[in-house]
Amino acid sequence: TLVPVRRALLSVSDKTGLVDFATALAGRGVELLSTGGTARTLRDAGLTVIDVAEVTGFPEMMDGRVKTLHPKVHGGLLALRDNPEHVAAMEEHGIGGIDMLVVNLYPFEETVAKGADYDTCIENIDIGGPAMIRAAAKNHAHVAVVVDTEDYAAILSEMGENDGALGYALRQRLAQAAYARTAAYDAAVSNWMAGATNAFAPRRRAFAGTLSSTLRYGENPHQKAAFYVEDASRPGVATAVQHQGKELSYNNINDTDAAFELVAEFNPQDGPVCAIIKHANPCGVARGKTLTDAYMRAFDCDRTSAFGGIVALNQTLDAATAEKIVEIFTEVVIAPEATDEAKAIFAAKKNLRLLTTGGLPNPGHTPLTVRQVSGGLLVQDKDTGRIDEEDLKPVTKRRPSAAEMSDMVFAWSVAKHVKSNAIVYVRDGATVGIGAGQMSRVDSSTIAALKAERMARDCGLPESLAKGSVVASDAFFPFPDGLLAAAAAGATAVIQPGGSMRDAEVIEAADEAGLAMLFTGMRHFRH
Ligand code: 5GP
Repeated sequence: TLVPVRRALLSVSDKTGLVDFATALAGRGVELLSTGGTARTLRDAGLTVIDVAEVTGFPEMMDGRVKTLHPKVHGGLLALRDNPEHVAAMEEHGIGGIDMLVVNLYPFEETVAKGADYDTCIENIDIGGPAMIRAAAKNHAHVAVVVDTEDYAAILSEMGENDGALGYALRQRLAQAAYARTAAYDAAVSNWMAGATNAFAPRRRAFAGTLSSTLRYGENPHQKAAFYVEDASRPGVATAVQHQGKELSYNNINDTDAAFELVAEFNPQDGPVCAIIKHANPCGVARGKTLTDAYMRAFDCDRTSAFGGIVALNQTLDAATAEKIVEIFTEVVIAPEATDEAKAIFAAKKNLRLLTTGGLPNPGHTPLTVRQVSGGLLVQDKDTGRIDEEDLKPVTKRRPSAAEMSDMVFAWSVAKHVKSNAIVYVRDGATVGIGAGQMSRVDSSTIAALKAERMARDCGLPESLAKGSVVASDAFFPFPDGLLAAAAAGATAVIQPGGSMRDAEVIEAADEAGLAMLFTGMRHFRH
């Protein structure tokens, strides 16, 4: 199944590594066919090149829209060399076989990213390139297709080992990569058009990503897994730099993302915020006067759960905070930056993974989220809903104090990142009890209150910090019971979406308990 490469067609927009690669091919006696700009580059480098126009008998025309769309090209890519009828057709029509196709496409994605106008984007939709790529990939039994400049080295090395021929396994891998490329390319065109026409265009994002790493395993050891980067220009877990520590696992990445997205809710200019995450739920989130203070307050919320957790910071990791973090076992720390002193402190903890991202993800950025269900994909806008104080509607006789107000907004931002049903107690800019992922809202309330009591015990406090706290609920209280549980735990103010059939009953119960309550008019389910 070794295919000797005798004739190659090169037509590339990204000319990185082109001359070296083509020179090596020519050195092995490979005949080079090429299109306008590519041919010029190769001739400038002193290589002998045959113009595709000479092969087809047609000039490149219509601003390059038609260059290679011709049976002499596509026949040469698609013919089965071991099929007598195909071989006869090649002979009859003077079609020469093309054993290798090297194509990378018009830079459509880059053109869009640059903010080019509509017509320029349209002109940058490559037609002949994808057509050839798909033809060559289909015929990988006989043809090698190269769409990524990073593959040049592997190809030359295999040709070196096999006297100028390529094996089936490599050709098949290249064909798979080729279809991934054309799928992503068309997805990019479709997404751009959806944006240009303001249509909601769900997309198969799995195909738009670039493999970043193969993971040791998935959520469990019997599951295979890999990690794809979708947008290299966005600060986040997918594009973070890992400074030290073991390889990230699937669960690490998932949890680190949850942690970092949570701290990204808080503008660094408003002060340091730290979130500690376990199993994608926060076990403590806090503001602080300093970053260390924020970490310590987040840690105090649930010292037991914080063990082996993931720490996310909305500001540069400094030495003082690093000193505190290394006092217990932590899986991952992620921050926009880290000082050299902080890095030096972490260096002693070989297993601790440190990631820096160069910035915070933009919480207003609205990509789609995709979840797989049996036989399908569920696609939605990311939950980027945010509230301002002026959007909040007071519904009780008592109005919240300024301190309660600020804690309520904080609690609400945290609740958005807690699995439903989410109940979050906050006092003085720090969570003091979080109830996550329960099937009943009352149970989440009860668990959050229990956690607040345990916090008091662990921290040697005289009483639960739920007393005098505010509480956020990610969705409305369908009955007064959940609200009453929060009041019983000592909460003085409540923030919740409102919108229940029994809102009147719930408001009445709040008034009776002397609570201040705000309706957000927006819920944050997270399932
Ligand atoms: P060159 O720089 O060689 O003039 O052009 C290379 C680019 O042209 C490559 O990106 C290739 O995919 C693209 N291309 C090759 N053939 C055709 C064609 O027939 N139509 C269009 N629109 N693009 C082509």
